[in-house]
Amino acid sequence: MTNYRIAIDGPAASGKSTVSREVARNLKFMYVDSGALYRGMTWKAVREGVDVKDPEAVIDLMNRSEWDFFEEDLTLKFTIDGVDPTDHLRSEPVRERVADIAVIQEIRAFMVARLQETAAFGDLVMEGRDIGSVVFPDALFKYYLDADPEERARRRHKELLATEGRGEVSEVLSSLARRDKMDSTRKTAPLQIPLGARVINTTGMTIEEVVDRIVSEVNEHRAASA
Ligand code: C5P
Repeated sequence: MTNYRIAIDGPAASGKSTVSREVARNLKFMYVDSGALYRGMTWKAVREGVDVKDPEAVIDLMNRSEWDFFEEDLTLKFTIDGVDPTDHLRSEPVRERVADIAVIQEIRAFMVARLQETAAFGDLVMEGRDIGSVVFPDALFKYYLDADPEERARRRHKELLATEGRGEVSEVLSSLARRDKMDSTRKTAPLQIPLGARVINTTGMTIEEVVDRIVSEVNEHRAASA
């Protein structure tokens, strides 16, 4: 039997991280946060003082770095040159620069190859921007989560207040708009609704409702093919 690959794409703060993590936990599949790889590369560049607007320098740094992937608590984790960057991936310097890193074609090719290799770990739920379109275009289950911009800004603002104790909704709205624009207008693998993806607008839906819908669709398929 082939493994299940559930691709969940969507813009920032569409609810896809929480939903993907919960779907994976419910189904006991491995959870893969593809954005963490782009953020990891950004963290490495910031740490080494490499300018993210200098693609040659970033590519050189990537080629000099040693990446190791492993599974921990049904989650894909990785180290870069032996260091686990998890705790730094959501920091402001990384957040503000990651979209610049994500436009570099060679960086994307490297990350896509690493993400495709994770299929060897078994059944998985992978979230990102190009999972159903580029990483696993033939995934049986593809979802595209969206929500109104104001709703997304409100959610992200709530997260920022919880993690950093500060933030303005209007600032969050413009930062999200800037990142959405970069992600959806870049030449390589722009954010788009993948062919065959089921679109869920999560505005006004609870996390549980979205998770239940996806989990039941996958379970129905599992029951039918058992
Ligand atoms: O999902 P997350 O917000 O952590 O992603 C951070 C950034 O990484 C995105 O804004 C996007 O620029 C990039 N990204 C990407 N392709 C993915 C996942 C993330 O370009 N599959």
